[in-house]
Amino acid sequence: MPHTNLKIAIDGPAGSGKSTTAKLVAKALGLLPIDTGAMYRAVALKVLREKIDPHDEEKVVEIAGKVNIEQKLENGEIHTYLDGEDVSTAIRTPEVNNTVSIISAYPGVRKKMVELQRKLAKAGGVVLEGRDIGTVVLPDADLKVYMIASLEERVRRRLKELKEKGMDVSLEDVKQEILMRDEMDSKREYSPLKIPEDAFILDTTNLTVEEQVEKILKEVERRFGLKRR
Ligand code: C5P
Repeated sequence: MPHTNLKIAIDGPAGSGKSTTAKLVAKALGLLPIDTGAMYRAVALKVLREKIDPHDEEKVVEIAGKVNIEQKLENGEIHTYLDGEDVSTAIRTPEVNNTVSIISAYPGVRKKMVELQRKLAKAGGVVLEGRDIGTVVLPDADLKVYMIASLEERVRRRLKELKEKGMDVSLEDVKQEILMRDEMDSKREYSPLKIPEDAFILDTTNLTVEEQVEKILKEVERRFGLKRR
């Protein structure tokens, strides 16, 4: 049970360190972490499996309307389920990376995901991370963090993460993928990635994960007098 009904939003571009940070901040405060990117990834996976053209908006929105997406915290890790199947690993492939920003631009897809995310956040006690959490999903969030890091650092982190998972990818491929997603996510018409007006901006280029988490926990303590558990 969360010991507070705080709602924390964490947004930022690909590879800025949101996922790890959200998970650890949630753990320290007894909140539930929710990975909204994984939900868009699950829709992208379904589109790929059904062999639907990602550019066919009508078909993609139709399939997004039918899927059942759930998230559960298991042993401290967020697991994402697509129609009852644990797809946590399957949603991290290069194919999904290359499809997700196409399908996440469709208003019909976003509408369904935003509804689901708001439902999960309703009672509070959550840390949601994504691209539009502070701006669209939870404009009333108690704290809106916007994480940034240099492109070089984001590429380095993503490459390390993929190598650790045994994936063989080149630095140039990772860089192109990040650049492409950033461009598509920031330029889309509907709910683009942007800094919320009242955001706490955190540049993590020269910070360790522990330092990033500590900065957010300090801000939570300063604003709400709430200490880690
Ligand atoms: O955070 P992650 O890299 O897993 O997100 C995958 C993709 O999902 C993003 O590149 C973006 O296209 C989409 N996304 C989004 N809105 C969110 C979270 C993710 O459009 N709130």
